[in-house]
Amino acid sequence: MKYIPYGKQWIDEEDIKAVIEILKADYITTGPKVAEFEQKFASYVGAKYAVAISNGTAALHAACHAAGIREGDEVITSPITFAASANAVIYCKGTPVFADINTETYNIDVEDIKRKITNKTKAIIPVHFTGQPCDMDELLKLADEYNLKIIEDASHALGATYKDSMIGCISDMTTFSFHPVKHITTGEGGMITTNNKELYEKLSLFRTHGITRNINTSDLGDWYYEQVDLGYNYRITDIQCALGISQLSKIESFVERRRAIAKKYDEELSKIDEIIVPYQDKNTKSSYHLYVIKLKLDRLKVGRKHIFDELKKSGIGVNVHYIPVYYHPYYKELGYVKGLCEKAEELYDRMITIPLYPQMSDSDVEQVINALKKTIDRYSKL
Ligand SMILES: *Cc1c(COP(=O)(O)O)cnc(C)c1O
Repeated sequence: MKYIPYGKQWIDEEDIKAVIEILKADYITTGPKVAEFEQKFASYVGAKYAVAISNGTAALHAACHAAGIREGDEVITSPITFAASANAVIYCKGTPVFADINTETYNIDVEDIKRKITNKTKAIIPVHFTGQPCDMDELLKLADEYNLKIIEDASHALGATYKDSMIGCISDMTTFSFHPVKHITTGEGGMITTNNKELYEKLSLFRTHGITRNINTSDLGDWYYEQVDLGYNYRITDIQCALGISQLSKIESFVERRRAIAKKYDEELSKIDEIIVPYQDKNTKSSYHLYVIKLKLDRLKVGRKHIFDELKKSGIGVNVHYIPVYYHPYYKELGYVKGLCEKAEELYDRMITIPLYPQMSDSDVEQVINALKKTIDRYSKL
């Protein structure tokens, strides 16, 4: 039986050619492909500026730094995300504060954000979970009212739209990841987009040790440069960016295929009374990084782990996105406790991610649907 992973990159001959070309070129890092990738990416999402960076976590770190997160500052984010969304706050010595989720979209709940705002709150990191954008109008209103920065974690949402806007041009900063399971890949890689020149300059500095050559060196010597802030080496190579450019040229077909598979899942899986399929907010168009089903446990004779294990046994690469961030021992140690976000915890006990990636064939999709139907049927109380 074929094993179908939950996500997978799609690298073709064109991508391979693009990478080989750079391996033979003069610059394999800090060369022209980085700027070209940034410019093409910014243009695709409709942002003024883009900064390519070594990975999506570094993108979040850079964005938190540029937003001015420092010791004592609080930043509100969702617990249903990859730990990096909150870790980035801690890298800047800030404190992540978790707001609960909306039970329909599974995205951060704006009403709960309001309850968690204090005079220490500096920013919000909304995560466009599975590729479905958060309620950006409400978030922007809140940011305006309380003078907060917004950093969208759009690791799941390349190609998604909110109302008529592409994700990536709406708030102060938006971060992306090019890990192989994401919409496009550079192996490891990330991007931050912004429309704000000052933030753009801070992000660029942070990526490169805080070092600038943007000074008049005529009296000082050609070698001269200055470190004006504490930055990191978060550079991305030209090899990666060449792959990124080639991948980006296919983004529309990638997203289209993801949407087609999700539509097929919606049609077939919504017939199963024991599960809930993803809700689609009418203001948004998801780019479907993930397809997450929620089990109605009261209608099943077994728990989530049992269903999960059965699916895995039948060759379906299921996964769970995500363990609430504050469940992790590191966060427990910091004082976060269970019960903090009840809706997120309720979802966590019931959710399963099923395979979704552009190169899945129609028969792969059928295999997933059939395995799910069979497994649920076997353990149904109905
Ligand atoms: C993938 C991901 C990240 C981190 O990206 P990396 O490129 O793996 O560092 C951050 N947040 C979310 C929600 C992600 O899915």
